[in-house]
This record gives sequence, C-alpha cells and structure tokens, in this order.
Amino acid sequence: MSAEIDFYAKYPPSKPAVPNILGSKAKSLHSKDNIRDLQSFITSKKIRQGLQRVAAGLLWERTGNPKQKYRVVHCGRSIAGDGVAVYRAADGTRARLSGLTTCGSGWMCPVCAQNIAEARRKEASKAMVQHIQGGGQAHLVTLTFSHHADEPLPEMLKKFDDARQSFKNCVTWKTILGKKDGKEGEAGCIGAITALEVTYGIANGWHPHVHMVVLTKKEVTAFQQERLKCEWVRILLKKGLSDRSQVTDLMERAFDMRGGADAADYITKYGREEHWGLTSELVRAHSKQGLMDGRYKPFGLLQLAGEGNAWAAERFKEFAVAFHGKRLLTWSPGLKKAFDLQEIDDAELSDDALPVEERVGRLTPEQWKVVLDRDARADLLMYAAGYCAAGEQQSLDEYIEHLSKRPKTSRGWFIQKPDGCEPWVYH
Ligand SMILES: [Zn+2]
Repeated sequence: MSAEIDFYAKYPPSKPAVPNILGSKAKSLHSKDNIRDLQSFITSKKIRQGLQRVAAGLLWERTGNPKQKYRVVHCGRSIAGDGVAVYRAADGTRARLSGLTTCGSGWMCPVCAQNIAEARRKEASKAMVQHIQGGGQAHLVTLTFSHHADEPLPEMLKKFDDARQSFKNCVTWKTILGKKDGKEGEAGCIGAITALEVTYGIANGWHPHVHMVVLTKKEVTAFQQERLKCEWVRILLKKGLSDRSQVTDLMERAFDMRGGADAADYITKYGREEHWGLTSELVRAHSKQGLMDGRYKPFGLLQLAGEGNAWAAERFKEFAVAFHGKRLLTWSPGLKKAFDLQEIDDAELSDDALPVEERVGRLTPEQWKVVLDRDARADLLMYAAGYCAAGEQQSLDEYIEHLSKRPKTSRGWFIQKPDGCEPWVYH
C-alpha cells in the first residue's frame, strides 16, 4: 500500500471563485492579518469539508430512508426549514451558514470534530489550570495493550472497555486513586478526564488506547505507579487482551504515567490539526520513517480513502461501525461541576460561532443546490466573509448566478425538512 498522498493537491486552498464580479461594490479586506486569517480559515474548512464528503460517501446507507445511521451524511448539507442563512464576521475573517444540519460526530465528521474538540480543549484547560493553581497535581496516564493484527476492532474494544472497568474497580486503583470504604485514596484523586483514541498500524492492526488526565491532591509516587502498572497488566492477561508471551512488552508500554507538563501538553494539543492525524499524516507521507512505521489515525485513513485507496476506505468503515455512539471524552462523575462547567452535548458544540457577526442574506433551497453541485461551500464562505457586507442579499444572488455558470462538479443532493409538518423533500 502506498502512503504517498498529496492531499492539498486534491483539495487545494480555496481562492474566491469570482473576486471581481461586484466591481466597485466589492468590499476589500481591511488588513494583511485579516486576509491571512481568512485564508487559513478557508483552507482548513476546505480540507475538512472535502474529508467530510469522503466520509459521507463511505457511510451512506442505501435504505431509502432519509434518516441515516451516520448523521455525517447530512452534515453541512441538508436543511431544516426553507433556506440557508449566511453570516459573516464583522472583521471579514470568517463566515458561517445557518439552517443546515450539523451531525455533532467528533469521530466521523472532520468539520464537527474541530469545533467539538476546540470547545472540549477549553473546558479541560480551565479545569486543569484551576486545579494546579489550587495546589493540585495533574498526571497523564496512558492505558494500552499488546495484541495481534488480525483481531476485529469491535471485539477488541469490548474487551478493552471491560478491562478498564475492572481496573477502576480493583483494590489497587481504589486504594491509590479512588475511594475505599468511603475513604479518599492515598493520592487524594478528585477525578479524571478520559480520552478514547485509536490508530491503525500496518504491522499490528487496530490499536485502541486511552489517555487520562488524572487530577490529584498529592503526588503519585513511583512505587504507587508500579503497583498500578502490575495490576493493569494482570487484568489485560485475565481479560485475554494480551498473552503471557507479551508480558515484557506490556510491562514496558501498557501503562504509562507522566507528570503535569505532559498532561498540559496533551490538553493543549487536543483539537489541533495534528491531534486528528491531519498534519502528521501529511508530514509522515513525505518521510521515510513514516512509510516504515505506517500508523494512521482515523482521519488519516479518510485522507487516503479520498485519494482512492480502497484499503483505507474499508478500515475507515470498520472504525465507524465500532466507534459509533462512543464518547470522545469522559469526565468522572461530578468533576465538571467541581469546576463550574456545564454539561453540554457534542451536537451543541458543533455549530460554528462568530464573535461579532452580521447577516448577509439567505439562500433558497434552489440556490443552495447550485452551491452543492459545484462543491462550493468553502468558496461561498470566502465570498461572504471577504466580499460582502451586512444585508447584501443582492451580492449573494449575483454570486450564485455566477456560480451557476460553472460546470457541475459534484452530486449536489440534499434533504430538506420544510417548516411545519410537511414531509422530507429530496433535492
Ligand atoms: Zn458534522
């Protein structure tokens, strides 16, 4: 399998499709900083929307029912209501569309994943900073296991969930990091934020693992860490996740506990491009080392699938089946409350938000179809942010008119649920 990918060649950064159609009416961008800001916003959107389209294509189920199992197939495409509203940031650096379905899937949707992870990163940072300022300790714990390449992902995940549950219920965990007989454990643990992750390695297949940011009042000594490690390895063997021939490897790698700097670093990077395997896959694809170690994150597989790699497409589908409905991040019960954080659904976090925004206008379903047919969602955002002003419906109409003269490049289907109780309409 070739890992050579040139993703940016396939999904190049967007340029405004028709920068001059408005002539003297065109609004110029104010400063070089704003232009740079807008360009990087659009580049990221374009890449993510391109990948979202690949995911939607792979996960579409031919059931004839508009209600799809994987909501990513409708994300940023289908509309509930009678049109799509277009907003721009007053400083011209961003734009957003409203009235569209968002899927809220941090696993399957590269567009929603970015917004969700960014919000989750802020929550975790807030908790950690507050905890450390109050004299507490933070630790980054990684739990993993050794396994054979041919094990199917759903079975492996089930065993891994079981093993983690047993670990949290075992006497060693309770004595050090939990509560035993109603008494606080040795380290005075106040809770943990747990992130589930998975990679696919060419040599060893699927590799699910968790990173936990564990917040304690006291230090966790080397001896306590050693006890936790031995217990985790014992549970892995008992649950059949690894076998005795792998014990040396397990003792080296299966349990890792690091200090506050690593925990902070993990949280800082959560939600950044490299966390999702976007940038890193690109860098790896161009390095010899990357070709040798060949380890992919799910969106890295999606990138390869977008290049027409059927093997990667199958792996992404396997991943989607196994991770559907799983949580990206889990907080211990009561931990959010301890830091005055609200419980917010991933779906609520997946909408784009602009700090100071103005409404440019609205697209009819017919106009929206023109945009989808030309795969021009990012172009539209670029245009609205950079070349429109508040209330310029006419500018939008002229842009769509211009766009309609471009050849169709995409299957621009979408589903509309009009206001009231009319049935779904296919466009
Ligand atoms: Zn989405």
